[in-house]
Amino acid sequence: MASWYNLLEITSKVGVFMYVFGIDVGGTSVKIGFLSSEGDLLESWSIPTDLRNHGDNILFDVAESIKKFMTMKSLKDSDIIGYGFGLPGPVLNDVAIKCPNLGWENVNVPEAFRSAYGKAVSVKAGNDATVAAAGEYWQRNIKGDIVFITLGTGVGGGIVANGKVVDGAHGAGGEIGHIRVNFDHPTACSCGLEGCLETECSIRGINRMAKVLIQSKKYKTSLTDDESLSPKQVFQAAKDGDAVGLKVADQVGYYLGLACAGIAVTTDPKVILIGGGISNAGDILLENIKKHYFKFAHFAVRNMQFELANLGNDAGMYGAAYLVISESLS
Ligand SMILES: [Zn+2]
Repeated sequence: MASWYNLLEITSKVGVFMYVFGIDVGGTSVKIGFLSSEGDLLESWSIPTDLRNHGDNILFDVAESIKKFMTMKSLKDSDIIGYGFGLPGPVLNDVAIKCPNLGWENVNVPEAFRSAYGKAVSVKAGNDATVAAAGEYWQRNIKGDIVFITLGTGVGGGIVANGKVVDGAHGAGGEIGHIRVNFDHPTACSCGLEGCLETECSIRGINRMAKVLIQSKKYKTSLTDDESLSPKQVFQAAKDGDAVGLKVADQVGYYLGLACAGIAVTTDPKVILIGGGISNAGDILLENIKKHYFKFAHFAVRNMQFELANLGNDAGMYGAAYLVISESLS
């Protein structure tokens, strides 16, 4: 199997330095990373996301920004291996099926970017969480498959198997946030289903769980049901031994442990990585996930490695670049 190490060997043998752009497109800003083929993030910057005209200007803005950068650095097109994009929605064969935050529907990213850039450059695209998974995989040099779960405003995920991200047959590979975990008191999910992992373990889900417990007045707690309530506060309270904090941490661990036990016997990854803003809670989150995971996991996968992701908001840029690198070697 080809890997990026091969490329490293190839480039060092011929003494040619090659670069790649990793572009993480969000609803507010677009992060553009300039990386070496070896995976070093050399420079990065952001431009605002222009949501006018169904997001039609976004790729033109990216192309303009990159052209300016290349001129400034005296870079030639032949120095660049390609351009990778992470997008907030399902992506299949480099086509963004639907990105509601951008106003995009069925956008063929390579075609659209080549048209914006004015040259037949190499372009790859993937779902943002899937791409973040690829970034973690590349940077951590994990020798094996991974499943990555990101906990934030939403709950997303990505799978890297045999060095490649798994888009799936419908562009929904790694859509871990929409595994149903709550059958007793399900809440409606933005996807149209209910009781999804995302409805429970996103920022809103965790806040809702804490609010219900605070309002029940059954527990002695330092947490208050107001605007300031956040997962950060809730997990901090749990670390301090607060009854509501501990109960929420346990419940979040239950939902994630349950989902991970199902995922584990589906892809049997080497590592399950937990990322996103909520993962800043750290070990208390991992310990609660593991506690429940071990109850649900099949004996063959019980010895699963759980780790915290560590690239934070840069994972998307790294992973978008990796899409190009892994493609150029296959
Ligand atoms: Zn859902």
